[in-house]
Amino acid sequence: MTAESEAPTSTRMVITCHTAGCPSEGIQYVAAMYPNAEAPVWSAMCAGCEQLVNDIVPAA
Ligand SMILES: [Zn+2]
Repeated sequence: MTAESEAPTSTRMVITCHTAGCPSEGIQYVAAMYPNAEAPVWSAMCAGCEQLVNDIVPAA
């Protein structure tokens, strides 16, 4: 990670919530995201259960 001088570019990521009982459980959402400067690099809050989603992978 040596891109300090570069403008951040969004990346299409697939976000999947795995919270039991969540209305969005197991549903894959694609969103344009910006990596965080600090870990976790990728983080998102599920719209269904408002829990942090840790299953975030680059979209194919
Ligand atoms: Zn959820």
